[in-house]
Amino acid sequence: MPLVICGDGMYGKDTVQMRGHITGVTGILYKELLRRQRTFLTAVVGIAEFRTSKICYNCKSDDMEDVKIQDGSRLYSTKMCKTCQVL
Ligand SMILES: [Zn+2]
Repeated sequence: MPLVICGDGMYGKDTVQMRGHITGVTGILYKELLRRQRTFLTAVVGIAEFRTSKICYNCKSDDMEDVKIQDGSRLYSTKMCKTCQVL
């Protein structure tokens, strides 16, 4: 059974522009996922995304940085805590 994790940042924002991109049909997708969950075809978990990229879930430190890969470039969406080294 697939597990789908949905952040609360996209609820009710089908036509809101984020970071230069217009979001699509997230409401329709979410409703379809919930329909499939009722028939046990998938599991949907909602999470509160507020400050999840700013504060470490482990030590509550606000000292997060982008993860760097071997060529020196940064992975924007992946953060690492400088205090406890958790991704
Ligand atoms: Zn930490």
